[in-house]
Amino acid sequence: MKLLSDRINSLPVSQTLEMAAKTRELKAQGKDIIGLSLGEPDFNTPDFIKEAAIQAINDNYNSYTPVDGYQELKEAICRKFKRDNQLNYSPNQIVVSTGAKQSIANVAMVLLNPGDEVLLPAPYWVSYSAIATLAEATYKEIPSSIETDFKITPEQLEAAITPKTKLIFFNSPNNPSGAKYSKEEYEALAKVLEKHPDIFILSDEIYEHINYEGENYSFARIASLYDRTITVNGVAKAFAMTGWRIGYIGAPEWIAKACTKMQGQITSGANCIAQRATIAALDAPISKIQYMVDEFKSRRDIVINLLNEIDGFKTNTPNGAFYLFPDVSSFFGKTIKENKINNASDFALFLLKEAHVATVTGDAFGAPNCIRISYAASEAQLREALARIKKVLS
Ligand code: GLU
Repeated sequence: MKLLSDRINSLPVSQTLEMAAKTRELKAQGKDIIGLSLGEPDFNTPDFIKEAAIQAINDNYNSYTPVDGYQELKEAICRKFKRDNQLNYSPNQIVVSTGAKQSIANVAMVLLNPGDEVLLPAPYWVSYSAIATLAEATYKEIPSSIETDFKITPEQLEAAITPKTKLIFFNSPNNPSGAKYSKEEYEALAKVLEKHPDIFILSDEIYEHINYEGENYSFARIASLYDRTITVNGVAKAFAMTGWRIGYIGAPEWIAKACTKMQGQITSGANCIAQRATIAALDAPISKIQYMVDEFKSRRDIVINLLNEIDGFKTNTPNGAFYLFPDVSSFFGKTIKENKINNASDFALFLLKEAHVATVTGDAFGAPNCIRISYAASEAQLREALARIKKVLS
């Protein structure tokens, strides 16, 4: 009998988390590594959220919470959906989980059967494909490139759909490209999905507030799709709360119920203190976190300018999230400082080895010509990282 299951053996390691672990390991060995691999704000969680957590500890919030989250939190999430997204959800349509990653895994587990197909507009976040695999579905990438700002077209979507298509994972603003779809672009894709009533839409909006231009749209705002859209969000990115692990969905009630059943057998409710803190985060005016968004935007511009000073990087200007996704294919086939660069993984490893800068290969995101640079690091670190990269490539 095999020691490990086929399930775990079929699962790749998360390359974002692996690169972060590698960075920690090298730093522990005394190496001066600049980590631009992890999508994690370098800010502290705002004080008003920390105070709510301390208050919750003092108020003895220490018991199991309802599996789908505290009622007060679910009500706060409904208020947030209404205020920020013009979406009407009631608390019985909400499920709170241990991070948006668990929210997504719940949805995949309850909707997918073996043989179902999941569509992944590429580039896509590393765990989408792994979660689809875990749910025994197959996935199909819909490619895009820097020339189209990493967005797919309605024609591509139409061409990718088959009778087996059950779910599409959609993410705007996008990790890893930073691409943000406009209302019109959503509506054009919706026209295609309207023709295929059996397809569900998982709309991952975790980066909604890291948005530099125009409004952020949502699939669930399109009335014809509301009943088959699962809106995913969380507090990690907007409120600098990555380690607090709170994600949530707004979904048709029957899907929310199924996710609660799934979660009830795997982990029960999310952390009680983090849930109380999340109420404070979501009830606060968005202006309270604007300083972080402004800072991210300024860093984006700095990094784009510095990258454009280096021959070989093809860049665009993403409208959201805190990633740049330059095309580095012009380096493929070259040997630099005795390192043969055949692909984006070689290039990312080269940057780690020679410049001591950690990035993530585009291969992990279904975009083999690119690397992901997270600019959720301090300006000083970003400037130093880019100076190092420039030096090793000159
Ligand atoms: N979502 C973040 C990233 O892409 C955190 C790491 C992860 O969960 O993949 O870097």
